Amino acid sequence: MTDPLLISIVVPVYNEAEVVGRFHRRITAVMEDMPQFRFELLFVDDGSRDATLDQLLRLTAFDPRVRVIELSRNFGKEPALTAGIEEARGDAVIPIDVDLQDPPELIPELILQWQNGSDVVLAKRSDRSADSFLKRRTADLFYRIHNRIADSEIPEDVGDFRLMDRRVVQALRALPERRRFMKGLFAWVGFKTTTVEYARDPRAAGHTKFSGWKLWNFALEGITSFSTAPLRIWTYLGLTIAAAAFVYALFIVTRTLYYGVDLPGYASLLTVILFLGGVQLIGIGVIGEYVGRIHLESKQRPVYLVRNRYPKD
Ligand code: UDP
Ligand code: MG
Repeated sequence: MTDPLLISIVVPVYNEAEVVGRFHRRITAVMEDMPQFRFELLFVDDGSRDATLDQLLRLTAFDPRVRVIELSRNFGKEPALTAGIEEARGDAVIPIDVDLQDPPELIPELILQWQNGSDVVLAKRSDRSADSFLKRRTADLFYRIHNRIADSEIPEDVGDFRLMDRRVVQALRALPERRRFMKGLFAWVGFKTTTVEYARDPRAAGHTKFSGWKLWNFALEGITSFSTAPLRIWTYLGLTIAAAAFVYALFIVTRTLYYGVDLPGYASLLTVILFLGGVQLIGIGVIGEYVGRIHLESKQRPVYLVRNRYPKD
């Protein structure tokens, strides 16, 4: 008889004191229904400033399946998730949000698909009516643009909630980059994937950590991490403008030969100069975005720092 398989539930938490207890109750209820598996609950405290850590430590006091990794400050969800995935010991790893927007009740279904031979089981939000209209529209636009220009396609309406086999986790750990856009990395590693659908619930309590501006930057991060198309556009734009300028020059020369010189043209000249100046600045901005990424990547700083691990061993 071999040991039962271990499932790691990885939960990044940031200022979530209101929901931690409720989350623990719901997830343990689900997992205890499957006694054929062992499980661990791995919370990553992403520098919370409220009572979240105390709450988590209370859990470790009576539940030996709970482990807590306390990061040294708030690093953001992607580094927190990376920390959890690196420290998880399970044969399968399931990242999940603590706010109960990802229903724990879906986990048995994810595990079933995994047992049937899938390496990755995605949880797809078939119903996003819990998200605002604007969030759905912009998310839609992001997936469309990203998937057109990046090599590895990010499945639409799939968050970080999923099940990954040990080999997938191994592959993710081996990726050396420091700026970690997890959705993109998940998609990049590939493996045999199936999808399970669910309806996304509204947040159980507390509020979202992602404002519009943060999401916008997140989208830019995603696109610049996985595609160089924004850099390449400028070659084509430059060629097009140069060709247009050449045609226009021919037209001017011909017209001057027939009708002589006429001086007016100040307004059109200024418009062209300003327009091209603007285009060049945008081009430099895009290059800057990538140079910035090289700069940050070249420092080779760790993705996150751990302050403490509980229970202390
Ligand atoms: N989170 C985190 N670090 C952060 C922001 C968020 O660990 O800097 C966690 C948060 O506690 C939650 C998950 O990431 O478990 C998703 O956050 P949220 O619900 O705010 O995002 P939304 O569902 O609104 O996209
Ligand atoms: Mg949420």
